[in-house]
Amino acid sequence: MNYLVQKFGGTSVGSAQRIKDLVQLTVNPEAKIVVLSAMSGTTNALVGICEQLYKRNMDAAKHLIDALHATYSNVIAELFSKPEFLTKGEQLISNHFNHLQSFTLDMFTVNEEKAILAQGELLSTALFHYYLEECGIPSVLLPALNFMRLDAREEPDMEYISKHLRQELEPHKNNILFITQGYICRNAYGEIDNLKRGGSDYTASIIGAAIQSKEIQIWTDIDGMHNNDPRVVSQTHPIQELSFDEAAELAYFGAKILHPTCILPAQKANIPVRLKNTMDPKAAGTLIANIQTSEGVKAVAAKDGITAITIRSDRMLLAHGFLRAIFEIFERHKTSIDMITTSEVAVSLTIDNASQLKGILDEIKEIAHVEVDENQTIICVVGQLPKNKSGIGFKVLESMKDIPVRMVSYGGSANNISVLVSSEFKTAALKALNKGLFNYN
Ligand code: ASP
Ligand code: MG
Repeated sequence: MNYLVQKFGGTSVGSAQRIKDLVQLTVNPEAKIVVLSAMSGTTNALVGICEQLYKRNMDAAKHLIDALHATYSNVIAELFSKPEFLTKGEQLISNHFNHLQSFTLDMFTVNEEKAILAQGELLSTALFHYYLEECGIPSVLLPALNFMRLDAREEPDMEYISKHLRQELEPHKNNILFITQGYICRNAYGEIDNLKRGGSDYTASIIGAAIQSKEIQIWTDIDGMHNNDPRVVSQTHPIQELSFDEAAELAYFGAKILHPTCILPAQKANIPVRLKNTMDPKAAGTLIANIQTSEGVKAVAAKDGITAITIRSDRMLLAHGFLRAIFEIFERHKTSIDMITTSEVAVSLTIDNASQLKGILDEIKEIAHVEVDENQTIICVVGQLPKNKSGIGFKVLESMKDIPVRMVSYGGSANNISVLVSSEFKTAALKALNKGLFNYN
C-alpha cells in the first residue's frame, strides 16, 4: 500500500474543537498514517512537572499534574457526546494522570523524565482515536514505542523502524487510517526516549522514509514557508516550491515551521514534503522535493544569538595547518562553526552555541590574537544562485547598503548567501532585503 503521512502539530490538536476538525482533513479514501504532536502546552507543562520532581518539590509537582488533569477533563467533556465515550475518555486520562502521580512517590532520573514527556503524544493520539470511534470511523492506533527506535549513535534505526512499522501495519490490511505518536521513541537500550523538542516533524519524516510513502505532509497553522519573517516585515508570501537543499538552509536559519534535521530522512529517501495550513487547507502551501526550482532568491531568514570570533595571526601568512589547528580547538569543545570567512592573515567565524566559549578562547589565545563580537545575527539569503550568474551578490549587498556588514559568506553552496550583522540591525536588514529582493515596501 502506498501511504500518505500527515503530521499535525500541537496547535492543530490544541483543543477539543481542533481535534474534531481533524476529521475533515484525515478521513477520505486515501490510505494514510497520521502523526500527532501533544496538544499545545502539554509538553511544556510536562517539562514543568519534571522540573519540580527533580527539585523534590512533590507538592508542587502534584499540583501541576492536577492542573493538567483538569485541562484534559475539560477536553473530554467537550470532545465526546456519548456517555460511553465520556466514560472511556475519563478512564483514559485517569490512567495517564495516575501514572504521572506515581512519579511523585519514587526516585526521579532522566529515565522517569522521558516517560513523563511521552504522555502528551500518547494522550492526543488516544483521544483522536476514540473520537473517530465515537464518529463510527474505523482507525488503528499504532504505538510508536513499538517501532520508532534510535541506534547507539542516537540516529533513527531505519532498518528496525521499517521492519517493525510494516509488522504493525500488516494485520490491518483492510484499514486505511492509522494514527501514531510523534516525538516519542525508544533508544538503543529499549528505554522510552524522544526525538527532542519539536521532534514530531522528524517522526513524520522518518516514517515516510521507512515505508517509502508517496508524500509527507506537515500541517501547522501557517500556509507554508514564507519568503521573509512575517513577524518582522509586513508583506510576505508563501514559497510554492523549494529543493531539499534550499529548505535545509532555511530550516536551520530560523524558519520555525520546520525542525532542522527533520527533512533529512525524507530527502535521503526522496519523499516529497509538503507544508500545509490547518486553518486554510485549500492553500497550496510549500512543496519541498528533489526538484530543480526556479533560479533566483526565494527567501531570507535570520538567526539571532550568534557570536563572531576573529582570529588573527602573523603565522597564518603563507602557513599551512593553521586553520586545522583552529578547527581542532572547536572540535575539542564540541562547538560547530556556521559561517567562515578568511583573509591572508585572519579568519572570522561564527558559532551559535557559546557555552564553551571561554575554553575555546583560552586555547586560541595560545596561538593567535582573538577578538569576539556577541549579539550578532546571520541574515541568510536562500535560493538557486548558480555560480555563473552575475548580479545576485550585488543585489543583496546593494539592498543592504545602509547597514554595517560584519561578514559575508558567498559561494559555500549554490543555495545561500550569508551576511552577518549586529543584531540591532536585524530588522532593518530583513526590511531592506524585502524591498530590494522582493519589491515589497
Ligand atoms: N510535543 C513535542 C514538543 O512540544 C513534540 C512536537 O510537538 O513536535 O516539543
Ligand atoms: Mg511542534
